[in-house]
Amino acid sequence: MEKIVIRTTKRKQMVDITGQVSSIVQRSNVKTGLCFVFIPHTTCGITINENADPSVRDDLLFFLCELVPENSGYRHSEGNSDAHIQSSIVGQSVSIIVQDGNLALGVWQGIFLCEFDGPRTRSVWVQILDIRSS
Ligand code: ZN
Repeated sequence: MEKIVIRTTKRKQMVDITGQVSSIVQRSNVKTGLCFVFIPHTTCGITINENADPSVRDDLLFFLCELVPENSGYRHSEGNSDAHIQSSIVGQSVSIIVQDGNLALGVWQGIFLCEFDGPRTRSVWVQILDIRSS
């Protein structure tokens, strides 16, 4: 397993980590397999979406904040219940096929860490599974 460390700079933010994950895949020398990406946190998420137009990221965060407002009579005493709920909506992992030694992503797809309670230092855990074809 390899780890990526990301320092976020805003409370709500999407950080493109496609380049870092691609580098790990290429260094692994795995040609055919699966790349599993997991975040060990309860107030951020990970997703795959468009990395061409940054307004897509803005719209995703806008919608998640509309859906789960920062203050809504939550019971959790830390005051970051919105972040916990948004984390569960987005999820903690993604899997991408590895083909010919690279991530098999769609043309417009990127992998994003979704910060919901930053700024913080976040870890991303990456495991490449080698599936040798016989
Ligand atoms: Zn909390």
